[in-house]
Amino acid sequence: MIDQLNSSKRIINAISVDVEDWLQSTIDSKLPLTNRFHINTRKILEAFEARNVKGTFFVLGLAAEQAPDMVREIHDAGHEVQSHGYGHELVTTISPDHFRNDIERSKKILEDIIGVEVTGYRAPAFTITQKTLWALDILLDLGFKYDSSIFPVRMKRYGIEGSPWYPYIAKTPKGREILEIPVGSFEAAGRRWATGGGGYFRLLPYSVLRRAVRQMNDHQHSATIYMHPYEYDPIEFAELDYPVPMKIRLHQGLGRRGFPRKVNRLLTDFRFGTMQDVIDTLGELETHEHRSLDG
Ligand SMILES: [Zn+2]
Repeated sequence: MIDQLNSSKRIINAISVDVEDWLQSTIDSKLPLTNRFHINTRKILEAFEARNVKGTFFVLGLAAEQAPDMVREIHDAGHEVQSHGYGHELVTTISPDHFRNDIERSKKILEDIIGVEVTGYRAPAFTITQKTLWALDILLDLGFKYDSSIFPVRMKRYGIEGSPWYPYIAKTPKGREILEIPVGSFEAAGRRWATGGGGYFRLLPYSVLRRAVRQMNDHQHSATIYMHPYEYDPIEFAELDYPVPMKIRLHQGLGRRGFPRKVNRLLTDFRFGTMQDVIDTLGELETHEHRSLDG
């Protein structure tokens, strides 16, 4: 067991944060952002600093406009700042032109703040699917080098079943190539589970999450973990001045209290760094052509 953990320690995994505000990103993208994301992002920065870990922050353009000092602080602390788009509109609900404008705008806002080129992207709710593969060509047009939006598990509104669960070269509809770094997942009971963040991460016991990262590392692949500032905010629903339906409150609030502790344990048990740290270790990658579905 210990030997296995030591072998895992040699592989570098990516820790990533999608910097956004729960209400605007989950309930209605037209709502203004609350300032809770500043406070919660600071908690994450402190947790990373305490363990001397650098991570990648995919910052929403709207969040960067509201808190440019925070973005500068993330960058100055040695973390990687990349793009989560501008307005958190699902790629599956907007046109290619709208997507292009959203991404171009978010990239410029972040680059103006940090003075470094932004080359990585993660889509709102992982909505690069078989119907929106055109987004990959637009990312290449705008100078992006990698994407981290294709979920390797089919979910209700996103995910491409059967796509690689480790970093690979994705062929775009126009025949170009982009590096794709999917978030972590876990194979158990004959299927793949999305354990790298979100609901499973909040609800599963730490022992399962540890097994999931170890499984990827034992296959000599990095695991990419993702989280949101609001997962560090157990009192959000008690304080939020907005009529959030009870069912959503229960589902979205569950597991937040124990979340930071799980992250701290992962950061202690495995080696973590930025997406770029992982990219630097990649050898030859397989190329995967997704089947495009127009719709
Ligand atoms: Zn998001």
